[in-house]
Amino acid sequence: MKKVTLLSPGPTPVPQRVLLAMAQPLIHHRAPDFAGIFQKVRDGLKMVYETKSEVLVYSSSGTGAMESAVVNLLSPGDKAIFVNGGKFGERWGSLLRAYGCQPLEIKVPWGYAADPAQAAALLAQDPSIKAVYVQALETSTGVEHPVEELARVCRKSNALLVVDAVSCLAATRLPMDAWGIDVMVGGSQKALMLPPGLAFVGIGPRALPVMKESRLPKFYFSWDKEIKNQRENKGAFTSAVSMFFGLIDVFEMLREYGMDKVYAETALRARAFGAAMEAWGLKSYARQNPSPALTAVECPSGIDGEAVVKWLRGKYGIFIAGGQDEAKGRIFRVAHMGYITEFDTLQAVSAIEMALHGLGYDFNMGSGVAAAQQVFGED
Ligand SMILES: *Cc1c(COP(=O)(O)O)cnc(C)c1O
Repeated sequence: MKKVTLLSPGPTPVPQRVLLAMAQPLIHHRAPDFAGIFQKVRDGLKMVYETKSEVLVYSSSGTGAMESAVVNLLSPGDKAIFVNGGKFGERWGSLLRAYGCQPLEIKVPWGYAADPAQAAALLAQDPSIKAVYVQALETSTGVEHPVEELARVCRKSNALLVVDAVSCLAATRLPMDAWGIDVMVGGSQKALMLPPGLAFVGIGPRALPVMKESRLPKFYFSWDKEIKNQRENKGAFTSAVSMFFGLIDVFEMLREYGMDKVYAETALRARAFGAAMEAWGLKSYARQNPSPALTAVECPSGIDGEAVVKWLRGKYGIFIAGGQDEAKGRIFRVAHMGYITEFDTLQAVSAIEMALHGLGYDFNMGSGVAAAQQVFGED
């Protein structure tokens, strides 16, 4: 028998209680009791974002909320910096170009983190730059960009900081207000333990006047329209009612457990996995700021990363992720975020060992499992 196990950085496993919550009979999105459900979703998002500002909910994948952060802040021809250190950074550039803005690229080699001084220098040179777009976690490389420092840099200028936190929201702490992040994007299918389908965008006070002046075309993703509606606990369009049921249950789980414990356990799984990787004689692809939410492992020479991914999926039904573009074949990526336990991590370690062994890598099979167990056992 084969069981599907999701250990990829999205989608991630959904807890049984959340699946059951989503199976509740549907109610109408304009029914009076839906307002209470909407209120709970707004409150929960504010808890995870650590913000007093409005966090909007959209029925879309994460990229929809990214697009909203372009069309609601900029006008045609506006200059905006984007950090390009991987596949998702590249996406900010594509969005900016698609809407006729002038993207100023901070190119970061894959596996490395952005240097806030570079953004500071660009902003000092040109005060007309409207915003800086960055990922909190560049999922394609496993690197965290220095969001807190970038926020500090942006606050010394007129520019807003827009953070794509889709892959680490609820995996690592990102206090929107305390750090001064102006706009932060999230999604349902990563550490929030839900199926794909919802996207979120937190909009801080510095972003609101900029939004009023933005002249890029927008309709479905208009923040102005959504803010007016969601403040009254309703969506401008039909809400994803069943996903809301699930999201409320996720927030209950997170509250019962405590966010600090969620962050600490994610970090512990990453440490245990890191110990296994070291025992195999392998290194993280992230040369700077490796994220606890996922690990990108650099393959030994002669071993194809895609073959490892295929081995796990084909033989064991375990889904991890390979590399993209220039990292294709060179890495494989394993998630530690969301509804994943130490035994899921041990399972990943054990399965990867069997794959590496089967593909001819010369190492001591079992050494990774033992190293990971050691870390979990000491906790
Ligand atoms: C998953 C992810 C997204 C969202 O991608 P969608 O496929 O649109 O949901 C955006 N940014 C990052 C960093 C991600 O990891």
